[in-house]
Amino acid sequence: MEPRGTALLTTLPVERRIAYLERLVRISQILNSTLSLEPLLNVIIQQATELTGCEACSIMLLDKRSGELRFAHSTGEGAHKLKGLVVPMGSSIAGWVARSRQALSIPDARADPRWNPDIDRTIGFVTRSILAVPLKVKEQVIGVMELINKVGHNGFNEDDVQIADALAAHVAIALENARLMAELQRAYDKLAELDRLKSEFVSIASHELRTPLSIILVYASFLQEQVSGQASEQLNMVLQSAMRLRSIIDDMVNLRHVDTGEALLERSTFSMKELIAEVTNEFCELSKAKHQSISLSLGDAELDIEADRQKIYLVLANLLSNAIKFTPPYGRIHISATRKDHELWVSVSDTGIGIPARELDRIFDRFYQVEASLNRRYQGIGLGLSIAKSMVELHKGRIWAESVVDKGSRFTFVLPINPSVVEPMPISGP
Ligand code: ADP
Repeated sequence: MEPRGTALLTTLPVERRIAYLERLVRISQILNSTLSLEPLLNVIIQQATELTGCEACSIMLLDKRSGELRFAHSTGEGAHKLKGLVVPMGSSIAGWVARSRQALSIPDARADPRWNPDIDRTIGFVTRSILAVPLKVKEQVIGVMELINKVGHNGFNEDDVQIADALAAHVAIALENARLMAELQRAYDKLAELDRLKSEFVSIASHELRTPLSIILVYASFLQEQVSGQASEQLNMVLQSAMRLRSIIDDMVNLRHVDTGEALLERSTFSMKELIAEVTNEFCELSKAKHQSISLSLGDAELDIEADRQKIYLVLANLLSNAIKFTPPYGRIHISATRKDHELWVSVSDTGIGIPARELDRIFDRFYQVEASLNRRYQGIGLGLSIAKSMVELHKGRIWAESVVDKGSRFTFVLPINPSVVEPMPISGP
């Protein structure tokens, strides 16, 4: 048999050849414009029936697990009875075509030992001639297309084989597209379900952990006031660990609020200078313990801004605690803030371990940490920067990092000073 794409339909008159090609183009257009399999396959088998002038056409698909061929789509008399019927692989024309991966044209099916009369008997049909072609995706047979009973007496000819072959290629593409789409959909559904479960878990876990943790914090500080010496130091450790746990839970809750859209902005006008002083003060003990210096260059102006103070506090706190954490003892940390036109630019720089260039964008992803978590030297769960980014973007601002490994890092965020009078800004990048 001629392979696909060779001298096309040489025996057909020109006008029939043109009509055929027009239909083929139409099918290609439908194939490119729709992802719904059923209507497309129906169009193809209808066209196959009409173009070859036969009584019926069927598509049988190979079930990978059972190895069976099953009727999936059919035209012609009794088509509705065919759907789902199994065609024996070892004793049928379709089975032979699937196994040998070749087209087969038989003028008198009943005289062929490979023919199986069961289907005719089941649906009350009389098969005379058959043309069957394999449906192949990347050289794998996924089914068979069968044309039944060429009108007239001579059976199917070489042109019919070419038509069937070309249409089979379209069927195979449509089936493969549908399979890929279904796979994609399954993956999306699974992701959506995982996301839902994660949110539910975070919500339950944070709620359930918060109450006992508050009790630990209250009683530990109460006890610490009453004892002295070694017991006080030990209680201090308890308090510090409990506070670390609380900040992790707060991070989880904040992210959940961003995800659910509950993170609304409560704007007020405040001094960025004051806020920076407040955050620096909060972290001063931590940096002192590592003999680090924190310097500020904030200029003379108050740097008033209209924003959500608590959320900007979170941004600054995350950046400063990272700077302290990732800078070795005796290192330097510098915070600067300045007004540029209608924006406020705030930077937190350090002389710490730095971040490789290829990681600079990824560190803002959730749970992303440059050092793999199992051999980590630094505490944290990789949420701080993604929270900072979400908070800045809620304000229609932007945040980014610059760094040189072993020299240090600079994190900068930019916020509109008075959002009610400026245009929205792009959401990321310097
Ligand atoms: P965490 O600090 O809990 O690990 P973050 O989201 O705050 O999570 O930071 C993500 C990662 O980015 C950190 O684990 C670290 O690898 C890197 N990183 C953040 N800030 C700095 C910094 N100032 N210097 C070096 N690396 C940093």
